[in-house]
Amino acid sequence: MKPKSDASVRNQTWDLEADVVVVGFGGAGAATAITAAEAGASVILLDKAPKGQEGGNTRVAAQGYLNTSSPISARAYLNALCGPHPVPQDMVQTWAEEMCHNNAWFAQIGGDPQEHQHQPAGIEFPDLPGSDCVHKFHHGDVLGYSKTWEMLAQAVAARPIDVHYATPGKRLIQDRLTQEIIGIVAESGGKEIRINARKAVVLTCGGFENNQEMIRNYLPGVHSCYTSGTPYNEGDGIRMGMEVGADLWHMNNYAGPSMALKVPEFPTTFSMMALHFSHEIPGGMIVVGPDGKRFTDEKYKTRHGKVRKSGTWAALHTPCPMYLIFDQTMFGAGPIYDGKPTHGWTQIMSGYHWSQDNQEELRKGWIKTAPTLKDLAVLLALPVNNLRDSVARWNQFCVAREDLDFGRTKMVTPFDGGPYYAVELSPSMLNTQGGPRRNTRAQIVRPDGTPIPRLYSAGELGSIYSYLYQGTGNIGECFAFGRIAARNAVAETPWT
Ligand SMILES: Cc1cc2nc3c(=O)[nH]c(=O)nc-3n(C[C@H](O)[C@H](O)[C@H](O)COP(=O)(O)OP(=O)(O)OC[C@H]3O[C@@H](n4cnc5c(N)ncnc54)[C@H](O)[C@@H]3O)c2cc1C
Repeated sequence: MKPKSDASVRNQTWDLEADVVVVGFGGAGAATAITAAEAGASVILLDKAPKGQEGGNTRVAAQGYLNTSSPISARAYLNALCGPHPVPQDMVQTWAEEMCHNNAWFAQIGGDPQEHQHQPAGIEFPDLPGSDCVHKFHHGDVLGYSKTWEMLAQAVAARPIDVHYATPGKRLIQDRLTQEIIGIVAESGGKEIRINARKAVVLTCGGFENNQEMIRNYLPGVHSCYTSGTPYNEGDGIRMGMEVGADLWHMNNYAGPSMALKVPEFPTTFSMMALHFSHEIPGGMIVVGPDGKRFTDEKYKTRHGKVRKSGTWAALHTPCPMYLIFDQTMFGAGPIYDGKPTHGWTQIMSGYHWSQDNQEELRKGWIKTAPTLKDLAVLLALPVNNLRDSVARWNQFCVAREDLDFGRTKMVTPFDGGPYYAVELSPSMLNTQGGPRRNTRAQIVRPDGTPIPRLYSAGELGSIYSYLYQGTGNIGECFAFGRIAARNAVAETPWT
């Protein structure tokens, strides 16, 4: 027998209504809204960010999306990526089948799928079974610069989708008797509004990249971490899901860490040119932890933050505070910030102009300097002898052309005679992968695996990726599960 419904919840007054309410206008929200609108549903799309700042991580991503070439290989590859953190096989199968359709869908909505030219380097784990399935695409001739995002935004604008900016979803409206989600309370202009979702709510509001309490609780090995993506993803979808009984998964997985500069004046991180694995710039440079000692190959190309350790993959160790220590040659060789705006919120959205000679950032105190290593160590509160020994040892390695501690092979240049410089580094990430657990129909499920009626999700909020990550997999998943969520949401019978 169908449970009785709660008339007091159902008979309330609504400010807005639509068949499907999509919460979060990034890649997943766009794919969901486009698919639902094309299927004839009325769609409201909410974003927390004001107009011009929407788009989330998708807007500032490197713009690649995954289109796998065969479901069989894709299934093997995803299982191998998950490794000791397995994901249920029905989910793996759904992902493997749907990811093959991304190009066809993207072209159908008006996109121009172009394969990245650096294959097979784009295969992040070529040794894993099924890795031949990886094909990375983007929109148009140029990779980066928000191009794929702009295409998605145009496709949303071309359809009857009612977009509300600066309207964060605050809490889901649940009929506690039937457990159905029948709407959402959002905030608009400082007031709460109640939105009726006649068929379903789809949460596509990203991860918890800007929620330091969740980062402390869920991400292994970091007590703080900052993002190079949108500042608007604060874990709201996780909180809203938990309030209505959602299970969580993959909360300990994230695309990071890397090491970057974070300053109070900006919400997102600045990447340092010297730490990019492919940039060779003049001058001596090492990174040290609070003990004044090196702890890694500073130029190692991590796999989205994972490094090979003891025969397995683990998150890069980031002992804080960490300092980039460098010499006058590097300081004088041009901007130490990697400011090219191909991707990243700081580059694309904040548009900060780093000075050509680094003097402005020295003046701001983002870069610190001292005439000797001893003075620099005192300034940074590092053990003086350790910092001096670390630089001396590095200089010896450079003479012998062999880094006996960490095997670094790039920028193997000794320090000059001073003055010396330092930048404090923080752990940084692209995005988190955890959130409410979803099933093959993109429904959010409870701890017992049963779906919460009329509640769906897509994108990095509760992503399928549990351990290792293949670049372009996130936007690919936004497309795939956005379509799945929309198809099933539209197929719901409106609640009465
Ligand atoms: C620099 C960078 C490069 C990357 N490069 C790639 C790449 O090339 N390929 C790839 O696959 N992945 C890449 N990633 C990861 C990828 O961008 C994201 O995982 C993916 O875009 C997430 O899409 P999404 O729609 O789930 O979330 P997002 O795109 O982050 O969108 C979430 C939206 O929800 C909104 N929101 C948040 N809270 C609320 C709320 N309460 N109510 C309403 N709206 C809310 C936000 O404002 C945002 O617009 C990159 C990430 C970064 C940061």
